[in-house]
Order: sequence, then structure tokens, then C-alpha cells
Amino acid sequence: MAYLGEDIKKLGFGLMRLPANGGVIDVEQVKVMVDKFLEAGFTYFDTAWAYGGSEDAIRQALVERYPREKFQLATKNAAWINCKTREEAVAQFDTSLMQTGAGYFDFYLLHNLGESRTKFFDDYDMWSFVQEKKKEGLIKHIGFSFHSTPEELEEILNKHPEMEFVQLQINYGDWEYPAIQSRKCYEVARKHGKSVVIMEPVKGGMLANPPKSVQDIFKKANPEASCASWAIRFAADLDGIITVLSGMSNVEQMEDNLSYMKHFTKLSENEKKTLEEARKELSSIPLIPCTTCNYCAKVCPNEIGISGSFTAMNYLTLYGDKTAAKGQEGWLVGGHGKKSASECVKCGKCEEVCPQHIKIRDELEKVSAAL
Ligand code: SF4
Ligand code: SF4
Repeated sequence: MAYLGEDIKKLGFGLMRLPANGGVIDVEQVKVMVDKFLEAGFTYFDTAWAYGGSEDAIRQALVERYPREKFQLATKNAAWINCKTREEAVAQFDTSLMQTGAGYFDFYLLHNLGESRTKFFDDYDMWSFVQEKKKEGLIKHIGFSFHSTPEELEEILNKHPEMEFVQLQINYGDWEYPAIQSRKCYEVARKHGKSVVIMEPVKGGMLANPPKSVQDIFKKANPEASCASWAIRFAADLDGIITVLSGMSNVEQMEDNLSYMKHFTKLSENEKKTLEEARKELSSIPLIPCTTCNYCAKVCPNEIGISGSFTAMNYLTLYGDKTAAKGQEGWLVGGHGKKSASECVKCGKCEEVCPQHIKIRDELEKVSAAL
């Protein structure tokens, strides 16, 4: 049966982690990536009001350089970030239109629904707002991205049948992971007949370079294939998806993604078994499941270097090298003008927005003790 997005090729360019020099997006490199991506026949780009500088960069690298009908652009409304009134939440839409220069959005999402964030979209009735913009022709398709339980997804979809698609975190590591429940969320969306955009297929980069024991499983099955290719093909193999977003950060990652997605082949039974083996192995290693999305950084009143602390801690768990882990912490936290884990005042604001449901305060305490 035909579904929304069936005609779109199954790799989308996620614009959350664009290449940057000293915190400034490297637009020239983004242009090269955009050219390669379009040349290979892919057309879907995903930005957000909340991805600092991303909308502006994609205007320069894509919108001002290609005819509008040659690509689809998605962006998102984050009413839960510092919006005290409906006007402030609604204003994000005009800002996005201005920053991207796109004229209209092919896909517009309410960003990061679930838990306490949903209330902002309800209180400001952003559901009606996006429908109005759709009627005006400024949005072609409305949907939302979601990070919470399958039960909550069911509730939202029952209340809002007008939503056409859902963006979900799906990867082999989170497929059965209790804090994410990728499989169950995917099944709820499909039961409601919604098309799905997949985000985090490589789990913030973690699955491109997973622990050695997981890499060994993949290498044994196919010495040529990159670990990222296994992760992205796992996601692209699902039915009813609009596209799989890969947050590519350089030309090399783009070329790797294109090499196996240009002529995508479904997973064989043996490949599915390999992925299941890798999933089980990964779930036995106690890593902090931080994807470096840095939503927590937007609300932390004390400027704690949360994601940097977790990256360093994961390094320690994986390699047991305390000196190197401390070096990483020094650069990713202090080197980026952030405060260390021990300075957390435990207000809990970060935990309200963390899509991975990490007990950030507890984990920071552990980082503080370990490093
Ligand atoms: S609990 Fe700590 S890390 Fe989280 S927002 Fe508060 S001060 Fe920042
Ligand atoms: S702790 Fe959570 S919100 Fe913060 S960067 Fe990691 S995944 Fe994102």
C-alpha cells in the first residue's frame, strides 16, 4: 500500500552535527557534502530551529544553490526551549522561514515530544498552528519527533490523528533498550498508519565506532563493511519509512553513507542474525547512552559540560585509560568553557529534556568520582 514518503530515497542528511571550525559551521565543506548527496540522487534534508547555525548554513549551501523543487527540507519547532508564551513559540516558525530562505517546508515537526515537553505544545496549541500553516501552503506535511514511551506515543497519536508522520530514534542498539524502546515505538506508529522518519540510526556516532567486541562481530561477518553501514542498513530495512537521517559531519562520512545507500539492498537472514548478535553484545556493556545532542546544555543554569563528561566517562569504561579519559574531559569540558561534573547543583532541569532519559545527576556524580 502506498504511504507518505514512499518516493523518497532512504538516506536523509541530518544537519545537527555539521562540520565546524572553532564552533562556526564550515559552510564550504557543507556545500561539497550537499553536492555529493544530491548527485547521488538523495533529496531529504533535516534541520531544526534548535540546531544552532544549521538553518542558516543550509540556506547558503542548499537553498540558494539549487531549485527549490529538487529537495525536501524539514525543520522543527521546539516550544519547550525558553518559550514563555504562544507568540514566542509561534515566532520560531517565521525565524526558520527567514533563516532557511526556503519559502515553505516540506516537513515540519513539533520537536522532541514526550514527558514534560508535550505540555508546551498543548498549552500553546501548536497542533492547530501547524495545521493552519499547512492550509496556507507553508507546510506540506506535519508531524513530530518523539522521545518517550510507546504508551505515551499511543496517547498522542490517539489525540492527534491529523499528524502525518512521526520521527523516531531507531537503531539496533536501542531496538530493545528499555529506556528507548525503539521497536515498540515503531510498532505503535505503524499501527496508527503513520510513516516514520528514523533519527539516530548510528546513536550519535556511537555505532560507527562501537566497542571492539561489537566491531569484531561485524568484521567476522563482512571484513569490508563499516560499522556505520550495518547500523544504517538496519534502520533502512524497516517498512513504512520516509527516510533514515544520518547526521553526517564530514565528506568522508558522507562518502561512506552514500557507498552503501546509493544502491540499498535489504538485509539477508544472515545479516539480521549478525545484527542481533551485535545488539546483545552491546547491551552487555554499561555505557552512558548520551548522543551528544546537547539539549541539556540549553537548559542547564550552571553550564555544566554534561555531554563532554559522559564522552570521557564512556572512554574510561571502554578502554580503562584514565589519563586519556581525563585528557578528553579537560578538552571537551574545560576546553569548551564548561564547568566540571562536580559543580552540578542538582536542579534536575537537564533530566526533563534529555531524550535518552539519562539520570544525569547520578551519572555526573559517578564521573566526578571516577575522573
Ligand atoms: S542538574 Fe546539574 S547538570 Fe543538570 S541542569 Fe542542573 S546544574 Fe545542570
Ligand atoms: S545527556 Fe541527554 S540531553 Fe544531554 S547531550 Fe546527552 S543525550 Fe543529549
